[in-house]
Amino acid sequence: MELYLADNLIDGTGEKPKTNVEILVDGGRIKEVVPAGSVPRPSDIEVYSLPGATVLPGFIDVHTHLMFGAGARSYEDVINNDSDDLMIIRGSRNAYLHLRAGVTMLRDCGARNKVTFAIREAANAGIILSPRIHISGRPLTITGGHFWWCNEEADGVEGVRAATRKLLKEGVDFIKIMASGGGTQGTDSTRASYTVEEMAAATFEAHQVGKKATAHTLAAESVERAVEAGLDQIEHFNFLHPDGSRIWDQVVADKIVQNGMVLSPTIQTGYRQIEKLQTKAAAEDEILTELEEKQLAAGLYKLETKLEFISRFKEMGAPIVAGTDAISVFGDYAVGLELFHRAGLSPMEVIISATSLAAKAIGVEDELGTVKPGMLADFIYLDGDPLENVQKLNNVETVVLNGKVVVDKRLDMAVGLPALADGDVKMSPIV
Ligand SMILES: [Zn+2]
Repeated sequence: MELYLADNLIDGTGEKPKTNVEILVDGGRIKEVVPAGSVPRPSDIEVYSLPGATVLPGFIDVHTHLMFGAGARSYEDVINNDSDDLMIIRGSRNAYLHLRAGVTMLRDCGARNKVTFAIREAANAGIILSPRIHISGRPLTITGGHFWWCNEEADGVEGVRAATRKLLKEGVDFIKIMASGGGTQGTDSTRASYTVEEMAAATFEAHQVGKKATAHTLAAESVERAVEAGLDQIEHFNFLHPDGSRIWDQVVADKIVQNGMVLSPTIQTGYRQIEKLQTKAAAEDEILTELEEKQLAAGLYKLETKLEFISRFKEMGAPIVAGTDAISVFGDYAVGLELFHRAGLSPMEVIISATSLAAKAIGVEDELGTVKPGMLADFIYLDGDPLENVQKLNNVETVVLNGKVVVDKRLDMAVGLPALADGDVKMSPIV
């Protein structure tokens, strides 16, 4: 048993913070959350504390791609040059970088072959130090569609049905469908790919075995089809049109809310690039090239429209969850939460989007997303109070996974590899 003291606890339920409490953990699960000192404890119990810190449930990232995280390299460069073996090793490191940012559960939305299966099994077996992982394995895509090189091209209702059943047999945790083109060469982000019937078949098969289905939807047309097909969740929803415009669709938005669909905006994609270009533009001795000017304008248009879409969905009461779509960098999690706040979510709503609501969206709300008795003991210590300043969500000092301290930044060495405390945590997998 371990005892964790919390000067300030935000438990993820949306209730107001509790001060000066203790969290008793037994066998990787939270047993009690009570006022500190209110219950006699055995004298030999291990006690952990971080004075002045705020304790929160571990963050959840509903959208990653562990096989990437390869910096500025293009998809095609990585796909053509890196082996599955290298992707597994890099993916393990990516998972660890996310863990250090406070992410204790992540959902991978698409990788080649069996890359993410291996990473998930290694995490569950305690071979690598990683957040808990759910995977879609290979995303379903039309022949030549976005992410076709993950090797799950499927066409037609029966073709999609068969591919979905095969993925479920292999043990994926959910189904990911590429409903429009994307960053893959030769695909068109502004147009839908699958038909309503094809996506409905995949969703039906996932639901048959109690699993969820989500879709990559950049094109406005693909959002509309995903709604008709009955998907549980949509990713990105850029509402892109063939002329390049991004236009809100109230009729489709109403249906999304009526159907109770979960929204995963992946707000932060491209945001660091915008920051970089803005810094360059502001520098006295530097000037943006014509291409960079265009990139900056396009990035800002995407950001502003996405902030507007999030804000409108929030006003309509739709569930919005946090996901990084980590492609180039892992471990840069909280910037997306800051952007949620900019879109109008209160600091408490931001925290819920990253914890209990995200847990519900991916079907693990009985185990994760709140700091309550009976839940798995995944929580983090932040320096400061995120309700006063959402930027504090970046200040993750300690990560507790399955009841054990796995990151304690006070113990990190100044140079070299980060110190690993309790590096061999075997977790109870989430099934
Ligand atoms: Zn993605």
